[in-house]
Amino acid sequence: MPRSRAGARSRVGLAVLLAALAAPVLALGSQQVSVATQVPAARAQREAVVQTVKIGESVRGRPILAHRLGEPADNGVPTVVLIGAMHGNERRTRPALWSILDGKPLIGAEVWVIPTYNPDGIAAGTRRNARGVDLNRNFPYRWAPLDGNYESGPRPASEPETRAVMRFLARVRPDRILSFHQPLHGVDTDTKDRAFAERVARILRLPRKTFDCGGVCHGTMTGWFNDRYAGSALTVELGPAPGEAYLRDVLAPRILRAVGVEPGAYEWGPMPEPTEEPEPTQEPTPTAEPTATAEPTPGEPTPGS
Ligand SMILES: [Zn+2]
Repeated sequence: MPRSRAGARSRVGLAVLLAALAAPVLALGSQQVSVATQVPAARAQREAVVQTVKIGESVRGRPILAHRLGEPADNGVPTVVLIGAMHGNERRTRPALWSILDGKPLIGAEVWVIPTYNPDGIAAGTRRNARGVDLNRNFPYRWAPLDGNYESGPRPASEPETRAVMRFLARVRPDRILSFHQPLHGVDTDTKDRAFAERVARILRLPRKTFDCGGVCHGTMTGWFNDRYAGSALTVELGPAPGEAYLRDVLAPRILRAVGVEPGAYEWGPMPEPTEEPEPTQEPTPTAEPTATAEPTPGEPTPGS
């Protein structure tokens, strides 16, 4: 039976939420930026979604949206981030996340869903962003100057999409991140939190695999997050062409089970008024020195995560 947590805890949760959002500024290097701009009215469209925020913009100015579900982390539950379409040619990473947004209200974790990390890549049908950069090689952790499919950009965190996700993750400090990719069909169990990875692989019924980027992973989001924060980020690779019904009706509930959430009621109360997000005035300071380049095979047809 779904538990109900409406009532007394809702006031506590709201108070904590308002306190948290009263100071929405964080330091990222030398810049001060607000985390996100709330997008009004999303709540009325999807009953599970309690808040939708724009965490940044793509190179072409498309919004990158994060949707909040579940219950507040201040209730003592974990914070989970689910990310799709970091690569724009991996469209099938999104329907399961949309299904979660379209589903019932949840309890058991504070869940943030970013269905489309790379909106310019989705629009163009390309792995990389509008400047030709692989966002999963652009993070300031073991960054290296890579070319081709894995073009890593002129420097670490050179891309606005990368910086948006960095400051978002710095703000919400998730305990778990699942980053969905295609087409390698498996869960990376050779990772920071192996027990969690094994659980995810078992519940999603995907093979256990090692995704080592063909050698050493340079500038990946999961590598950066796992190095910098206490939580653990995990790569989940779907197959080359998973069906819509599988993604929406089978995989989506498995994802929720894997991260420990279930249907339930939590009354968040009204969200605070939207705030403007100032544009960063300067690039963040690179924190990683370029290392020896592990060159990927040129023209590799199906690059992985
Ligand atoms: Zn990918």
